[in-house]
Amino acid sequence: MNFLEERIVMDGIVKEGNVLKVDSFLNHQMDIKLFDKMGEEYAKRFAGKPINKILTIEASGIGIASVVAMHFDCPVVFAKKTQSINLDGEMYTAEVESFTHKNVNHVIVSKRFLGPEDHVLIIDDFLANGCALMGLIQIVNQAGATVEGIGIAIEKGFQQGGQIIRNLGYQLESLAIIEEMDASNGEIKFRSQDK
Ligand code: 5GP
Repeated sequence: MNFLEERIVMDGIVKEGNVLKVDSFLNHQMDIKLFDKMGEEYAKRFAGKPINKILTIEASGIGIASVVAMHFDCPVVFAKKTQSINLDGEMYTAEVESFTHKNVNHVIVSKRFLGPEDHVLIIDDFLANGCALMGLIQIVNQAGATVEGIGIAIEKGFQQGGQIIRNLGYQLESLAIIEEMDASNGEIKFRSQDK
């Protein structure tokens, strides 16, 4: 097991409905040293790519992306979630359905912070059905920027997002991929990764 898988086993809580709670170290209380290790790992996996910007989505992606950005020496832009969109031409927009909240949000990024010169690493905490990522990819495409890669903390491998994104040809690096989890006994099985 790698460092993130070990931490998930130690502190993650499997909930009914295929939800993994990791709020003691990842997306409520945040373990910054763990994020730093994640950044180190992404830096290895995306070595040689001309990444000059990190894109994430509020709220839980922001903490991780900020620490990861130290390893790429570049700014972080986060897509903002909003119910109403004011289409004044100043924003890139996409629709994102939330897995956890079961609602649809518009996400927006100002045109001032993303453009054709950008080589983007997308970072997020979870990958489930891939809606959040597809929204972020759409925004990068609208900007005429390039997706250089996607770094995820925890991929739920039994949901379809990972396969969809990999089939589209993106370099998707998930530090922990869960194959199965069981709320009745808390057991979690990971996909083996030769990294
Ligand atoms: P997707 O858009 O890929 O279906 O879901 C990704 C988003 O849903 C993530 O940004 C994350 O906030 C949330 N999410 C999906 N599955 C889980 C889960 O099992 N636990 C938690 N805490 N968040 C999840």
